[in-house]
Amino acid sequence: MTIMGRWPTMKRISGSQCYAGLYTTFTLVCLFSISAVTGYGDDRHAFGAIADCQYCAVEGQGVRKYSLSPSKLEACVASFNTMDLGFVVHLGDFIDRDFESFSVVNPIYQRLKMPRYHVLGNHDFSVADELKAQVPSTLDMPARYYHFENYGWRFVVLDGNDISFHAWPEGSAEHAAAGKYYSENNIQSPRWNGAVGGTQLSWLRATLKQATEDREMVILFCHFPVFPEDVHNLWNAKEVIGIIDEFPCVKAYINGHNHKGNYGVRNGVHYLTLKGMVDTEETSYAVIRVDAEAIKVTGYGRESDRVLTISP
Ligand SMILES: [Zn+2]
Repeated sequence: MTIMGRWPTMKRISGSQCYAGLYTTFTLVCLFSISAVTGYGDDRHAFGAIADCQYCAVEGQGVRKYSLSPSKLEACVASFNTMDLGFVVHLGDFIDRDFESFSVVNPIYQRLKMPRYHVLGNHDFSVADELKAQVPSTLDMPARYYHFENYGWRFVVLDGNDISFHAWPEGSAEHAAAGKYYSENNIQSPRWNGAVGGTQLSWLRATLKQATEDREMVILFCHFPVFPEDVHNLWNAKEVIGIIDEFPCVKAYINGHNHKGNYGVRNGVHYLTLKGMVDTEETSYAVIRVDAEAIKVTGYGRESDRVLTISP
């Protein structure tokens, strides 16, 4: 509407200004064309998000329709490819079991024409012990946890399987460390959750400090939620929230794992759990647009629309 409002002023320009006018006209035509193609205006400040595709080659148990996940993912990828999104992120549990499952869903995800990212989920490690170490590389991940920039925002990908019974082979030092951590901290949360380890927490604090210095706004991605209180939360959710509380640059924490979805706001930070794609016959995914005022979630299928206002 604001672009439309400029048209009458163009009738009053003449002479050398005309070139500027023609250029403006050309630009506006291009903008209208892009808008017509994508149907979403400027999608470059937006990203696609999927949680818990969770494919495996079995029919499904109850609400989980594992065998439908490839067709849901295909439709989702085709939909994202009609938009000019900055990137797409899958929030963990890309598969449910068997390393072979990756060979079914990886080629579909690789059809995305924009940068694509993965977050490690607990079920991504439901593979043979000797193949667990290959999970990050089969997902083309640069590291188990990492960060990247997009249009002035910093996106930080956490690994909630750092301390985990799933992610490491039985008999390994890491598996033993998970057992020690679980008993020494008297963890009541289920064994299928996990924790962010000390080295990663230090890295997170340093990353957020740098983002603050660079005047970037930050969104964290993790497979596991930390807020509101829930059985699916990271074993050390309070520790992660404690770090988030130190850095006002963090505007949102977005995760999967709890297929029902969830939402809470705490100290001006939005904690959003996206619904699991694998559940029911209906799909679920989102396009999330960011600007200085709000994080706008457009839900597809079972996912909800939300406008999450950004506090200064
Ligand atoms: Zn999970």
